[in-house]
Amino acid sequence: MKNIKTWSTPIRAEAKKYIPCPLCGSTSFVPALTCEGFSFVRCTHCSLVQQNPQPVQEAIENRYGGHSSQAYLEYELHNEAPFLSLQIKGLEDGGFFKLEKQFLRTMAPGNGNRAEQPLVLDIGCATGALLEKLRDRGWDTLGIELCGPAADYAREVRKLPVITGTIETAGLAAASVDIVLASHVIEHVNNPKVFVDEIYRVLKPGGYFFITTPNIDGFQARLFGSRWRSAIFDHLYLFSKRTLAQLLIGAGFAIEAVVSWGGLAKGSAPTLVKVMADRLAKRLNWGDVVLMRCRKASCQ
Ligand SMILES: [Zn+2]
Repeated sequence: MKNIKTWSTPIRAEAKKYIPCPLCGSTSFVPALTCEGFSFVRCTHCSLVQQNPQPVQEAIENRYGGHSSQAYLEYELHNEAPFLSLQIKGLEDGGFFKLEKQFLRTMAPGNGNRAEQPLVLDIGCATGALLEKLRDRGWDTLGIELCGPAADYAREVRKLPVITGTIETAGLAAASVDIVLASHVIEHVNNPKVFVDEIYRVLKPGGYFFITTPNIDGFQARLFGSRWRSAIFDHLYLFSKRTLAQLLIGAGFAIEAVVSWGGLAKGSAPTLVKVMADRLAKRLNWGDVVLMRCRKASCQ
């Protein structure tokens, strides 16, 4: 597999503002990571790591929907196969395909009580490679993508229903989705609390949310500090398992599974060392990327 570099837009001057911590409301921060041209602070109350001051919403929308959007589409297309394989592997580790059996069983031919196809929503679906795969497996699919050219590609080339925008602007009906996926999205949004609350609202009672994000408590983050590959301009937040869990539980979710993977980045160590580090990181749950499977309560 080729080495995948994390996407980052070129650093540029943008309108910024100071915000209270979206997780706990505190306005007390201490320096966390100092990078070239930007920095992260840590909330002294809940320890969420974030860029603060941070670019305003319009600046973020302009990054992915505006000046960089064509370059972002090209990056996604270039890395489509390895990204898809990583996403499938993550979902497998998080138990997605076991759940899938239950969801799709109700649609089996000959089932007299045939239900509607279950709906999976992929937030930040990019070119729609994962949704296409899931559609082929029997899911009804919906994508949301802020990058216009990537959303157009998913619609035109893959014939997928994709809304250009964000979960906050998509205006989906409450309790309308069976499973929501959001892989490497929450670290980019201005207000992760609003993001997670909205996902909770659109899920059906008993529905599932699979969320994936870099893990600041992972082995690589601890080893590399401000040179960590996820300490980049595009990441407004860097979650630990604890801060992510706090956010999800605060929205009403029950966390059912926590998995992490990635010990050392490809090329940063000899292959044998990397294989050992990857195994250890997974076993100890110190991986570079964390996935949580959480569930909305069945009865409201
Ligand atoms: Zn806080």
